[in-house]
Amino acid sequence: MKDTWLAERASCVSGNRLLGGIDEPIRTKAREIYRPGSAQQIAELIRSLPTGTPVASVCGGHESSNAAAVAGDGAVILDMARLKSIEFHRDGAHAVVTVGGGVVFRELVEAVRERKAALPVGTGPGVGVVGYVVNGGLSGYFSRRLGLLGQRVMRLTVVTARGEIRVLTPADELFTAMLGAGSALAVVVDVTFELAGENVVRGAEQRVISFETRDQAVAFAREALRIQRDHVLPDDSLSMELVVTGTKALVATVVFYDTFQGRMADFVAPLETLAARLGLRVVAASHFGSWFETAAALWPVIDGMKENPLAMLQHCMGTEGVPSDAVLDAVCDTIIAEAPLDEAPLSIVEIRTLGGAAVSKQPLPSGNCRHLFFVDLITLYDAQEKSLAERQGITDATRTVMEKARGVEGLAVDFSGTHSQPDDPEMGVSPAVIFGTEAMAAMVRERKRRVDPGNRFRYHPYAKFL
Ligand SMILES: Cc1cc2nc3c(=O)[nH]c(=O)nc-3n(C[C@H](O)[C@H](O)[C@H](O)COP(=O)(O)OP(=O)(O)OC[C@H]3O[C@@H](n4cnc5c(N)ncnc54)[C@H](O)[C@@H]3O)c2cc1C
Repeated sequence: MKDTWLAERASCVSGNRLLGGIDEPIRTKAREIYRPGSAQQIAELIRSLPTGTPVASVCGGHESSNAAAVAGDGAVILDMARLKSIEFHRDGAHAVVTVGGGVVFRELVEAVRERKAALPVGTGPGVGVVGYVVNGGLSGYFSRRLGLLGQRVMRLTVVTARGEIRVLTPADELFTAMLGAGSALAVVVDVTFELAGENVVRGAEQRVISFETRDQAVAFAREALRIQRDHVLPDDSLSMELVVTGTKALVATVVFYDTFQGRMADFVAPLETLAARLGLRVVAASHFGSWFETAAALWPVIDGMKENPLAMLQHCMGTEGVPSDAVLDAVCDTIIAEAPLDEAPLSIVEIRTLGGAAVSKQPLPSGNCRHLFFVDLITLYDAQEKSLAERQGITDATRTVMEKARGVEGLAVDFSGTHSQPDDPEMGVSPAVIFGTEAMAAMVRERKRRVDPGNRFRYHPYAKFL
């Protein structure tokens, strides 16, 4: 079971792990994998192990470096797949949902739809809700209106490194640290979110524009990103995402919230006019009429990304303030122009608006709640189709692009626990950048020393510095 488990549970394999012996399947190093069914079972298991035994938790299996799923010699993995409960209830004036530690977004989104409610969920249907929340996950579509999902947490049930079951509320010292660095601090058994009403989203418009040459993609992005900066960023009642794909498509999605007063067409027409002026064809136009339709918009595309194995490298960059012309040009001329989209055709560059409620709500230890402008380079390819030299070439090209991004004044790089690649050799990530501030980084470090002095929870995106 152990030998095939990782292939079944991990959605991708880190591109950095595919540069050694070719055709050798990546296996977990853990000595044992358990599928606990309750907090009690997790607590008893942790107490029964020698105190030095490292423990890794796996929820949706989408973390791009496979830190938890590969783990290490002598480690024990807790595969949370049996903890699938989704319970709706009321907490005082709040409508809330309590979600088990193994629930993935497709399950949560479908259940929340039935309740006519909404949450700022991530785009991947198989991404683990807890794996996303404890690493400070963001929603490009919904966070400007609803904040980060972590900013809607009211309660967490966790098991500590000593095997104690604790219920954390905002009054607990550990609570905030769990919502950006939780994968290093405890095992989450369930999490309770405050729901929003489904009417927070009025709808969304999406246009898919095809391109032939990279110069065309760059030319479209150069102007579309100025529309995003000048017309969308100052207005918290909408958000806009531009995705450039290795399959030669530009996908522009504009999401309109209940607070939006204007005409949707005023934001879509300029993108269509721009495409026409550059001689590019709009090949698909979609309207999503609800929170659910918008949340599920990318599921069919993501469902199609199943290779054997799917190799992934993930990095993010962005700005806390409004991006300058120089930053936008660098994104176009470096990331969009030079990312290995042809060599790794499943790859995407996502450019999103953040800010809004994510900035105004209670800060979390996550760079995601401080940034207004966000770019995510996801390098993806079918590893079976690539020779070792080709894999190395794709990895080198990604690193070169990221090195250039690090040299751009005003552009922060790798500030997210969900979108950064902690296993890149020789690429340091800064605790203050990834957790948002020096003070947040110091707080997380202090909590880590206190609750997990033996570093039992060591397989997470912050392993380089925590
Ligand atoms: C297709 C796709 C779409 C994505 N979309 C978004 C997006 O829109 N926004 C965004 O922010 N990110 C997004 N991501 C990134 C994703 O949120 C992160 O990779 C996330 O950490 C994955 O969580 P997981 O549970 O699926 O992965 P896992 O590998 O299972 O877990 C990730 C980390 O969380 C820890 N963890 C998991 N469960 C627990 C638990 N119960 N207790 C304590 N720690 C736990 C693990 O130990 C590991 O360190 C996406 C990724 C993919 C592949």
